Amino acid sequence: MVEQFHDHKDEMMISVEEARTRILGHFDILDPEFKPILDAQGQVLAQDVVGPFDLPPLDNSAMDGYAIVSGDVAEASPYNPVTLRVVGFLAAGQVPTKNVVPGTAIRIMTGAPIPDGADAVVPFENTDEMDRKSSGRELSEIDVRIEVPVSANIRSAGDDVKKDDRVIPKGNTLGAAEIGVLASLGYEHVNVFRRPIVAIIATGNELLGIGGEPEVGKIYDSNSYSLAASVRNAGGVPRLVGIALDDVDDLSNKLEAGLSSDILLTSAGVSKGDYDIVKDVIADRGQIDLWSVRMRPAKPLAFGMLDLNKNNPVPHLGLPGNPVSALVGFEQFGRPAIRKMMGHKKLDRPTIWATLEEPIYNYDNRKVFARVVVKKRKGRYFVNLTGNQNSNILTSMTRANGLAICPEDLPVKEPGQLVEVQMLDWPEEVF
Ligand code: AMP
Ligand code: MG
Repeated sequence: MVEQFHDHKDEMMISVEEARTRILGHFDILDPEFKPILDAQGQVLAQDVVGPFDLPPLDNSAMDGYAIVSGDVAEASPYNPVTLRVVGFLAAGQVPTKNVVPGTAIRIMTGAPIPDGADAVVPFENTDEMDRKSSGRELSEIDVRIEVPVSANIRSAGDDVKKDDRVIPKGNTLGAAEIGVLASLGYEHVNVFRRPIVAIIATGNELLGIGGEPEVGKIYDSNSYSLAASVRNAGGVPRLVGIALDDVDDLSNKLEAGLSSDILLTSAGVSKGDYDIVKDVIADRGQIDLWSVRMRPAKPLAFGMLDLNKNNPVPHLGLPGNPVSALVGFEQFGRPAIRKMMGHKKLDRPTIWATLEEPIYNYDNRKVFARVVVKKRKGRYFVNLTGNQNSNILTSMTRANGLAICPEDLPVKEPGQLVEVQMLDWPEEVF
């Protein structure tokens, strides 16, 4: 895929899908790491989780009640209670020492192991326990007021996890439930694919680091921060390298500093006129393609493999400088690359189809990613633009929870039509 460009007219016009395919082809799943289960939240399992034992380990009670022999209460009803002798008490965590024989019962708490001889549990509320307690009588006997079938209110050993079962397969993501299952099986550590380190370099003579004194003609570097937050959100570990000036030496140094990473993101310097410097710097350190992607925003894009030591090439994604373009470009190409390295099967944001309430125009056959807010009214989703769609209006992204797509070949998406929206967020206040 890699070609050298000597002239801007050589830049390739490609579709979003083609750019994505080319880029993702350069990424592989990273190596696994073994870490405490809670630290692995959000990461993908690099091992099967196998049950080391049955869970629950023993048959146990699903209710607070009495462990009995079901045959004893076959005829029991509120009008014809059966009186059983209470021979013991079992709390969760205790081990039974007595058996239940016909005519007897053991008072048992939820989670306590079923004593030998018992084949059912009668809940308290189906006995006269409350009456006995309120009238101060002893609980040496109990009246059972219902019949119960064999196994009633008993949870069988192994009904959640059986020993040697594959409980969670390799490739699944660790969320709260998975982490709970790991703990329930006694796992302290687990093998997951590691998170990629993502180096981020802003480029441009006009940029000022936050904390710096304002200067006429300069603007604060926002891309480093919005990209770092997006990287985190995708599951990667951002590493801010800083701002590179539009000069060969400075950019070279920053690129070198960024090469101890799994992917290097740069912003700006890929639009026509700027690109030469990036190209010059990269020419003897690797290869890079400049693309014109048929999308709005984020049309100019660069991608290549940087290889300083000739043995450890690092993928470089050159995003446009305009703050919205950088973010939208990252969403389409950087985020799936990070998720692929992490071992995720689903690389893209979830999309929904929702009703458009104002038009999205497509002037020049590009795939439009419009900043929109999706709102729910009476159980249905409606889509509105978040105002000015120029690629420098970063605040328009703060009001957006999705990117609505107008396909390349459609000049306009009309109000009332269904539109596909990549959901960036599902904020509680909207839904
Ligand atoms: P360029 O791609 O270099 O032509 O930059 C396009 C626009 O994005 C210019 O207005 C830049 O000032 C702006 N820009 C570039 N980098 C950043 C950054 N890191 N933070 C905020 N704005 C930027
Ligand atoms: Mg620039």
